[in-house]
Amino acid sequence: ALKERVGQLERQNKIYPDVKFLNYKDRKRILISGGAGFVGSHLVDRLMLEGHEVTVVDNFFTGRKRNVEHWIGHENFELMNHDIVNPLFIEVDQIYHLASPASPPNYMYNPVKTIKTNTLGTNNMLGLTKRVRGRLLMASTSEVYGDPEVHPQPEEYWGNVNPIGPRACYDEGKRVSETMCYAYAKQDGVEVRVARIFNTFGPRMHMNDGRVVSNFILQALQGQNITVYGSGEQTRSFQYVSDLVDGLIRLMNSNYSQPINIGNPEEHTIMDFATIIKDLVGGSSKIVNKPAMQDDPKKRKPDITKAKKYLQWSPQVPMMEGIRKTIDYFRNELKRTRHSQRN
Ligand code: NAD
Ligand code: UDP
Ligand code: UDP
Repeated sequence: ALKERVGQLERQNKIYPDVKFLNYKDRKRILISGGAGFVGSHLVDRLMLEGHEVTVVDNFFTGRKRNVEHWIGHENFELMNHDIVNPLFIEVDQIYHLASPASPPNYMYNPVKTIKTNTLGTNNMLGLTKRVRGRLLMASTSEVYGDPEVHPQPEEYWGNVNPIGPRACYDEGKRVSETMCYAYAKQDGVEVRVARIFNTFGPRMHMNDGRVVSNFILQALQGQNITVYGSGEQTRSFQYVSDLVDGLIRLMNSNYSQPINIGNPEEHTIMDFATIIKDLVGGSSKIVNKPAMQDDPKKRKPDITKAKKYLQWSPQVPMMEGIRKTIDYFRNELKRTRHSQRN
């Protein structure tokens, strides 16, 4: 059964058409913190298909075993139930550090825990990287730019973050994580890579994590009101998950050690975005305005000059195509949950 499922994945490899199998000598031992989450599980698929040894550590706060279950039992794969706030001693070559809640309702649910994960947790991952003399890639975020006064945002921009607002546990947590990466690099010669990830969507996003893509698609599929917070004039730029995974792997294996934006510069207002999803799904939903979120960034769009130059990376999947795939995924998920509720 395992062989069948992995075979299926390999055949579906249309998602990662450029995956190449490795020579044995290029094979690495790779740790992915947060690997049972949305982005992490896609990274697991790609690295496993390439033939690496992959260990996932996750406390399953927002991640799910189901996202990686097709690898359980494979000799190159290990899944550990572990909270990175506690030290971790294993032997690896590369660490993708993704563990952290990512959607606003999730990271605001327990802000103290969010801060601990992004301070103590990052500290442990860096301590481990130092001991094994490996390399760590930190999943940072466009939120380090806060509510930006520079548009689009280049990596040199220092950001505009409210240190005591409701988003601070996440924004400041990620900022201190970045600071810690470069402190370890300077003091102990630890090799670090920092990806500033912009809004990302795709299959395996949590249906109920409150992010705009999942909310709008679910609302449209269920014929409910599509809820635009505030006027809807705020903007975001959305990238499809396979583009992000490609960018992360390129960054990890590049020589570029400064922070780098990974995102799709295709920018839309949230109102536009609501209309796009409503039209793609069809159905009877109405678009309604709800109160604005506090400290909601008014615009966001990556300047990806550096990713193009240093990683030869740019997004390949047009937003519309990604949205169609994500709608299909949510439609199936809804069927599946309805089915399991009946049984
Ligand atoms: P996600 O919530 O799906 O994944 C995060 C994973 O980390 C989950 O599996 C969760 O259980 C795990 N986790 C959380 N706290 C942990 C802890 N203390 N110990 C062990 N595991 C823990 O979110 P995602 O969208 O996959 O995001 C992955 C990373 O990318 C995060 O660091 C996030 O900040 C960053 N990022 C994501 C986006 C996006 O749009 N998805 C944008 C910018 C940055
Ligand atoms: N750490 C870890 N795994 C390791 C090595 C270190 O979890 O393989 C933790 C360690 O417990 C410490 C943190 O990482 O809390 C930072 O380690 P470092 O060596 O920088 O600091 P120190 O141990 O000297 O405080
Ligand atoms: N948003 C919205 N309706 C929703 C969820 C989100 O209008 O049901 C808005 C939110 O206020 C923000 C944007 O969509 O302006 C993106 O929100 P999300 O939580 O996806 O990510 P953020 O970029 O804010 O971290």
